[in-house]
Amino acid sequence: MGLFARLFGPAAGQPVKSKTSGAPAGGSDRNAVWVYVKCRKCGEVVALRLRKTDEIQRDCDGVCSSPGAVFFVRKEVMGTRCFNRMDLLVEFDANYRVVGSKVTGGELASREEYLAQAEGEARA
Ligand SMILES: [Zn+2]
Repeated sequence: MGLFARLFGPAAGQPVKSKTSGAPAGGSDRNAVWVYVKCRKCGEVVALRLRKTDEIQRDCDGVCSSPGAVFFVRKEVMGTRCFNRMDLLVEFDANYRVVGSKVTGGELASREEYLAQAEGEARA
C-alpha cells in the first residue's frame, strides 16, 4: 500500500470518495481533468484535479486567448513545500485538452514530471 499510495495519492490527507473509479493523478478521468503545476520557487510539482462540473468554466470570452479554447479554469495553487502562491489559468478545447495556460509564480508541468517527483519521494 505504501508505495502505491505515495505514487498515486496527490491529495494526501484528503479522503478519496470514489471507490473503484478513477485514474488517480492522471490519465482519463470521466469527470475531471488533471493538470500539473510546477512551483517556480521550490520546484515542487503539484497535481490538480479539476472537476468538469463545477471547476471548469465555460464562458471563455475575454479570458481565453488561445485558438480553440472553450473552457477555462482559474485557480490559486499552493504547494506543500513552500508558501509560494501560484495563479493558474488553463484553457481547454471542447475535448478538455489543454490549449493554453498562464501561470504566475510557476509553470505547467507534465504528468511525467509529477510521477517522477512522486517516485523520487517514495525512494527517499
Ligand atoms: Zn514551492
